[in-house]
Amino acid sequence: MRVRFHGAAGEVTGSCHEVEANGHRVILDCGLIQGSAQDERRNFEPFLFDPAAVDALVLSHGHIDHCGRLPVLVKRGFTGPIWTHAATADLLKVMLEDSAFIAEMDAEQANKRREDGHADHKPLFTRADVGPVLRQVKPLAYDAPQEILPGVTVVLRDAGHILGSATVELRARENGAERTLVFSGDLGMKGTPILRDPAPVPRADLLLLESTYGGRAHRERAATVTEIGEILDHAWSDGGNVLIPAFAVGRTQEMLYWFARYWDEWNLSRWKIFLDSPMATKVVEVYDRHEDLFDTAGRKVFAGKPHPFRLPNLRYTADVEASRGINAHERGAIIIAGSGMCNGGRIRHHLRQNLGRKQAHVLFVGYQAHGTLGRRLVDGAPRVRMFGEDIQVNAQRHTVGGLSAHSDQPGLLAWYAQIENRPRTVLVHGEDDAREALAEAMKSRFGSDVSLSRPGMEIEV
Ligand SMILES: [Zn+2]
Repeated sequence: MRVRFHGAAGEVTGSCHEVEANGHRVILDCGLIQGSAQDERRNFEPFLFDPAAVDALVLSHGHIDHCGRLPVLVKRGFTGPIWTHAATADLLKVMLEDSAFIAEMDAEQANKRREDGHADHKPLFTRADVGPVLRQVKPLAYDAPQEILPGVTVVLRDAGHILGSATVELRARENGAERTLVFSGDLGMKGTPILRDPAPVPRADLLLLESTYGGRAHRERAATVTEIGEILDHAWSDGGNVLIPAFAVGRTQEMLYWFARYWDEWNLSRWKIFLDSPMATKVVEVYDRHEDLFDTAGRKVFAGKPHPFRLPNLRYTADVEASRGINAHERGAIIIAGSGMCNGGRIRHHLRQNLGRKQAHVLFVGYQAHGTLGRRLVDGAPRVRMFGEDIQVNAQRHTVGGLSAHSDQPGLLAWYAQIENRPRTVLVHGEDDAREALAEAMKSRFGSDVSLSRPGMEIEV
């Protein structure tokens, strides 16, 4: 078996690895490169392999940095099966359609801005390109070995990162010997609500391990949850609204879970709760269909009252009219909306309404990247520019850590330690400082053979 590294090699987006196994070509993930405009232009460049020569693709999970270039791969000639967990197959439709819609809007706006009349900005892919991808998807269950090509078998195991997320075990029989490659995908934190903990894998000849937070330890989740309750109390006594910018997959459902779990303690029946995100609403429907994947504690909360997705005062606002209607509430509303970093989506309209009010609270529950509006707010900007206006920020801002969807260094080490033969490892999906810290820890703790992937690097398994 031979592995070639293409994406998420020294960065955290654009996940893509190529495997040659028993004479077949398999791609693991085909993710979108995200970041600056310059980074994102790389999505248009040719793949460094021939899409038409790929026999099969295995997708670890539905985040766009793992699946977002699939429509491009298919447009350029890939016709093989896309093996992934059944819940990821459901999420894939939502994620790709949303991504295509944003790409179409961005291209349209860029063309409008051009003064010379040339409309040459093209979206990376359109909503029409999504259907062909979905038709190639072959859904799998966890822990069910599947021969995807002659002599090549795949087993998906729960990665506990988002619904349907998987670690990928790829076994190939070559010249009479079996070799096993394990790709961690993105690994969740132990104890993440709703989801099961990342499942252990028995052994591997080579491990591709994610390292997003390879250099740090997260704050205790319990402390974070207590803090959220305190902020809600505080906001109620101030007489303002609470705005929660949240990613559509995972964090939004987790917030609703906490609301149900602490319904009485946090006195939530006095609030009006709005989920103002059509995409997050679609993701809630996918979660609803896959309750069998929840962990024991999660199933208990979902079987109790109130049900996290059917809180008595929760409104899902579908159209723009209903979304605007939320503006009538100057106090007593909890508004969850995307995007998670405030660089698009309906949250911006609510921020515009509420940022000037000193009794309003903005609760950041997810990572805010440099250059985003969310980051400027978190950093305490006294004014921000939105919709062509300068807006004075009087609202109170809170950043709660500890809800990460990624395992931290202790979590990654513990998961690695469960693999019986402590395999040779290549670190992917991490900035260099995080990867170096994790590599150092693995070498000193276990004496492991660890290296960092680079684009174009090849390894024989
Ligand atoms: Zn992910």
